[in-house]
Amino acid sequence: MNAIDLHCHTIASDGLLSPAEVVAHAAKLGLETIAITDHDTVDGIAEALAAAARWGIEVIPGVEINTDVPEGEVHILGFFFNDGWQDVELGALLRRIEAGRIVRARKMVQKLVKLGAPISFQRVQEIACGDIIGRMHVALALVEAGHVATRREAFARYIDRHGPAYADRFKLSPADACRAIARAGGLPVLAHPLVGMINGVAAIANLEARLMALGEAGLVGLEVYYPGHTAAMMDQLLALARRFDLIPSGGSDYHGPMPDKADLGSVYVPRRCLRRLREAAHAYFSSSPKKSNHSSTSCDDSGGSSRSRRVAGSGAMSRAANSAEGTTRAP
Ligand SMILES: [Zn+2]
Ligand SMILES: [Zn+2]
Repeated sequence: MNAIDLHCHTIASDGLLSPAEVVAHAAKLGLETIAITDHDTVDGIAEALAAAARWGIEVIPGVEINTDVPEGEVHILGFFFNDGWQDVELGALLRRIEAGRIVRARKMVQKLVKLGAPISFQRVQEIACGDIIGRMHVALALVEAGHVATRREAFARYIDRHGPAYADRFKLSPADACRAIARAGGLPVLAHPLVGMINGVAAIANLEARLMALGEAGLVGLEVYYPGHTAAMMDQLLALARRFDLIPSGGSDYHGPMPDKADLGSVYVPRRCLRRLREAAHAYFSSSPKKSNHSSTSCDDSGGSSRSRRVAGSGAMSRAANSAEGTTRAP
């Protein structure tokens, strides 16, 4: 039976359930460990940890940082087996991402007004309903105002990358996100590496280049077990994980009870994945003079050197875990 889910969202980003509700759902399903990985925010973590203590299950504090590459978006998960999720610099970066999204939504609204398809920023905010504001909310506002018939049309006519109302936002590269997570004492993991990639052969070639670059930025893991990944895809990803000294990870990418999304715990994640991640985190912290990242990064200017060591040491850390655990097989 599956006991682990290392990829879940709550209402702190775009999930439907509160952090406490997600934890309760996990406990009722018999899960032992879940990671809360909301997009660009750790706002749901404290509530999830409190609920985990009540239900007697483990919550690993996490985050999923959305980053940009020329071909689209790349998501980097961060797992914190310590209090690094409260890191001051990480918090500042996440707030900057959020502010960037608000500025960008305002810019798109202004452009739409000029283009004769007026909507209000306030309405976009209401539609987002506390979620991290994105183009989908602008699209819904356009549909609601009758300027387009569908969300798809909203993107096609106005707000896709080459649309007349498209606006850029504060952008982070995948390597930036890896470094930010690693500096805060977290383990960066490349999320759903094949999602959105159409041509299989080119996708794997691109992925190899990406993994090569991200290894230098401190990448520790690769999400192998994911909704829709076939056995063949998982085999390919496991081979890449071995080649690049990355720990296989996985989860359902749960967003709450939605008909088109996977349920919590519905993706099998081998226990050894979690064990290896835990060992990788432990290896770093037992070798680091600073065990408490939260206090060190918030008030110690010399923290930069220890953070650099963390980034440089991640490959070795992962290699140690690989040799100790052997390889992980697809279920
Ligand atoms: Zn994602
Ligand atoms: Zn996700």
